[in-house]
Amino acid sequence: MTSRADELRANVEQVEERIEKACQAAGRARDEVTLVAITKTFPISDVRALVDLGVTDVGENREQELKAKAPDCPELHWHFVGQLQSKKSRSVVRHASVVHSVDRPSLAEALSKAAVAEEKTVRCLIQVSLSAYGSADAATGASRGGVEPVDVPELAAAIAAADGLELGGVMAVAPLGSDPEKAFAGLRDVASRLRSDHAGADWISAGMTGDLEAAIKHGATHVRLGRALLGTRTPLG
Ligand SMILES: *Cc1c(COP(=O)(O)O)cnc(C)c1O
Repeated sequence: MTSRADELRANVEQVEERIEKACQAAGRARDEVTLVAITKTFPISDVRALVDLGVTDVGENREQELKAKAPDCPELHWHFVGQLQSKKSRSVVRHASVVHSVDRPSLAEALSKAAVAEEKTVRCLIQVSLSAYGSADAATGASRGGVEPVDVPELAAAIAAADGLELGGVMAVAPLGSDPEKAFAGLRDVASRLRSDHAGADWISAGMTGDLEAAIKHGATHVRLGRALLGTRTPLG
């Protein structure tokens, strides 16, 4: 019988191999890419098993789960990657050091207040909508969240000027049903324009289980992997 620990070990090895190969193909060093394990819906025992396998960065997409798990593994870097209501900013800031999903000035303001109150510095990534680069989404009008590329400079300026926040770069989810290469190439352009105004904003959070190779090819510095590491999710009720 295979234990969960063995299963996770095999998954981490496979993921490492995928990342390594993608880096090689892109002519990039392995250490340019950080693996963020997205542990949503999975128990804290899985998080601990991943820590034993060398994972250092973990992400959650709901404040409830973040606050339930993070205190058990304070040695990890906790990332928040989901849609965030401003009123939950304080809790997220308490438990996470990076928020990947800043998508409006009012949220930046709430995070800033929370960071000041918690006496922390929070690294903020701007979530960028890539629907303009994906024909399918553009056609259906479906969005996977984020600000339009044209609105990035204004939000960036707000974050850069806010107490307690550090502008870290960009994050995106590739549009459903279209070529992730095109989307991530677009994100790379958005990221380099951002960097020309804010030199320290050098993170590109892109790539999930289905498209990490395309993301690494186009400059991702952080890949967010759930299913490849932990298996199929059962939706939370
Ligand atoms: C769930 C989630 C991921 C991980 O997706 P997988 O396809 O399971 O790798 C990445 N980013 C965000 C924002 C998520 O919500």
